[in-house]
Amino acid sequence: SVHSLRTRKIGHAISCDVHVQVDPFLSVSEGHIISVSVERVAKECLEDLNDVTVHIDPEDDETVAPYATLPERAEALGMLTKALFNNKCDGEIERIQLHYIDSRIHVDFYLPLSCLKSDQSSDEILSKLHETVDALEGFGKVKVYFGKG
Ligand SMILES: [Zn+2]
Repeated sequence: SVHSLRTRKIGHAISCDVHVQVDPFLSVSEGHIISVSVERVAKECLEDLNDVTVHIDPEDDETVAPYATLPERAEALGMLTKALFNNKCDGEIERIQLHYIDSRIHVDFYLPLSCLKSDQSSDEILSKLHETVDALEGFGKVKVYFGKG
């Protein structure tokens, strides 16, 4: 969906900016492709349109308050790392993806498949990660992905 469409006329040129709400779990690169596509289509529709700024939103930011109180990535990772310290799997996490949705930070952990070959069961890893994140203020759901590379 689309909101906050604003246009300005400068001489014969038209400039516009618009917010486009997308699936909040799209990748940054897919969100970028969507913004490029919106810009191209808008320019095809209006020949005097020479400047388009597209904001990609994960949710309707007209109805959801901004997350001024949630920690940004560096601070959030610091909190997670500190909470996971001495946890059996903390050294094996390959990537952490943060999702700022519904006024919370939802966390995706990416772990190597080899984690599951060790004496730890996946249930043990999952419950430890859930327990860790549940104890942190401002954090929400946890997802854990196991894979190669
Ligand atoms: Zn918006």
